[in-house]
Amino acid sequence: MYDVAIVGGGPVGCFAGKLLAERGLDVAVIEEHAEIGHPMCCAGVVGVGGLRELGIRPGKWVLNELRGARLYPPSGSPVSLSRGRVEALVIDRAAFDRELAASAARSGARFLMRSRCVDISVGEQVKIKVETEGRLREIASRLVIGADGPNSLVARKVGLLRSRQLINCAQAEAIADIHAETAEVYLGRKYAPGFFAWVVPAGELCRVGVGTVEGSALGKLKKLLREHPVVSEKVDGDKLLHLTAGAIPRPLTRGMYADGVMLIGDAAGQVKPLTGGGIYIGLSCAKLAADVAVEALEEGDVSAKVLRKYEGAVRGKFGGEFELGMRAWRLFLELSDEDLSSLLRALETPDVRATLLEQADFDHHAKVISALAKRGPSLLRSLGLRRLVRYTSHMLKK
Ligand SMILES: Cc1cc2nc3c(=O)[nH]c(=O)nc-3n(C[C@H](O)[C@H](O)[C@H](O)COP(=O)(O)OP(=O)(O)OC[C@H]3O[C@@H](n4cnc5c(N)ncnc54)[C@H](O)[C@@H]3O)c2cc1C
Repeated sequence: MYDVAIVGGGPVGCFAGKLLAERGLDVAVIEEHAEIGHPMCCAGVVGVGGLRELGIRPGKWVLNELRGARLYPPSGSPVSLSRGRVEALVIDRAAFDRELAASAARSGARFLMRSRCVDISVGEQVKIKVETEGRLREIASRLVIGADGPNSLVARKVGLLRSRQLINCAQAEAIADIHAETAEVYLGRKYAPGFFAWVVPAGELCRVGVGTVEGSALGKLKKLLREHPVVSEKVDGDKLLHLTAGAIPRPLTRGMYADGVMLIGDAAGQVKPLTGGGIYIGLSCAKLAADVAVEALEEGDVSAKVLRKYEGAVRGKFGGEFELGMRAWRLFLELSDEDLSSLLRALETPDVRATLLEQADFDHHAKVISALAKRGPSLLRSLGLRRLVRYTSHMLKK
């Protein structure tokens, strides 16, 4: 009988395991794979401010420092954005996850590897059915934390999944001729409808990937590498290493607690709506979850009535980010390629550019979205009044 069983040994589950174990709780981390950090599908870009806030010191897992981004519109020339300082790090995600797991284990958390959670039932205690090498067994716990990623079984089993909306992704590592301190973002319906494609420097290689709301992500990645006029020139698409597929959840599509259950990380949709980045937000929410879990276990009451405090804390810290980011994403979904190109060109005008560089924060997008929305009329004027009204109404939709 554990105090807390965490389903999922990704970064967020491992971090929660460490926080709970170091507070004296008996913690099990249940991971279906044989090795922490594998398989992995992630561009591995994390903001330096977010890591600082979390108290995580950059380690050997840092591959690159990023000082800027270059945005490629569907047509026309790219827009470069940089303040000259290091904004983010590109990390070796497997090594990063392993460091978090080692730290959890040092704090006393137990790791049950090759153990897939196949069912959960919540009564006086939580019963977690786990399959290990074809054998089923049951683990009892006072509380279960679902940290089992975007397709969370825990969320589905306890009825916390309200919508299955996901961004499907494919990513490869490859040899590329790109600037070592600049992330490249490619926009347009042809290659990445509803999201974007990226080329990120990662040590000796680059990570090239695609996120899409339509069709096969792998098919779109192959097309990007073969046909995109810039990517096909820069990235050697014939020598792809480490080809992976993954998914990014949408915020506000899942509840975060139920009787005896909490969700954290991707399982709870805790990602930045516009970029899908979930490492900083997931780890930050794991801290909020750990505080509420410790309190609930000390009081001996893990009912939804007590655990709701956790979702309140998440919404207090990131609710604005989720709401505003999702509105901006819905507006983005509606934009035609032509309008997207016009808007990116508008980012080049000196006052808009100054606002962007002043307000941009790698981990918190609400501030810059609000600042740009205030400039909305001048930004969207280039699109014409009819389209302005149409897009604004999408932005206002719940
Ligand atoms: C293509 C792509 C690029 C990304 N790039 C970035 C980026 O640059 N920066 C950023 O911040 N974020 C990025 N993300 C998002 C980031 O990867 C996630 O937010 C992060 O991994 C979430 O961590 P997690 O621990 O919540 O979930 P996960 O990392 O998904 O870990 C979940 C774990 O649970 C295990 N599991 C699942 N089901 C079960 C089960 N039934 N039983 C036992 N174990 C189970 C899995 O094996 C896995 O180890 C990207 C995502 C994708 C798909």
